[in-house]
Amino acid sequence: MSSPPQSPRMPTIFEQIVDGEIPGRIVHETETTLAFLDANPLARGHTLVIPKEPYEHLDDMPAGVAGDVFGVVHELTPTIEDAVDADATTIGMNNGEAAGQEVPHAHVHIVPRFEGDGGGPIHAISPSRPDLSDDELDEIEAAISEA
Ligand code: AMP
Repeated sequence: MSSPPQSPRMPTIFEQIVDGEIPGRIVHETETTLAFLDANPLARGHTLVIPKEPYEHLDDMPAGVAGDVFGVVHELTPTIEDAVDADATTIGMNNGEAAGQEVPHAHVHIVPRFEGDGGGPIHAISPSRPDLSDDELDEIEAAISEA
């Protein structure tokens, strides 16, 4: 875990929304979080939930702040589904550049989904699947569970 980046540095575009320096379609706010509509939505109602402090990645956030962010995701998801009459939602984070994160300020995407919208499941992010032996799976299990 690390602290939020300190000045001097360029504020992230999301900090500028938090600070009211650029406009955002804000749908929910708490002391530690902000939720607003994505400016380039993948679907009607596509919403981003962020910590107000500019933590870059999920594991940079203190556990309490991560809990606040995911608590808002839990609270807002049914509200968003109702608001746009969605059939389901895909919820996810691009957590790090290699995962496609473009804005270096942690955010959770809530993407409403509609029957027949032509989109894929989260499994579609990988063009292939690793062929793992039982030994390799055991190693991975141990590396995670023993850490
Ligand atoms: P990611 O690739 O996970 O970093 O996604 C960044 C998201 O931020 C994209 O879906 C963008 O459309 C969205 N975005 C970028 N700038 C803004 C903005 N000013 N207001 C709202 N959403 C934005």
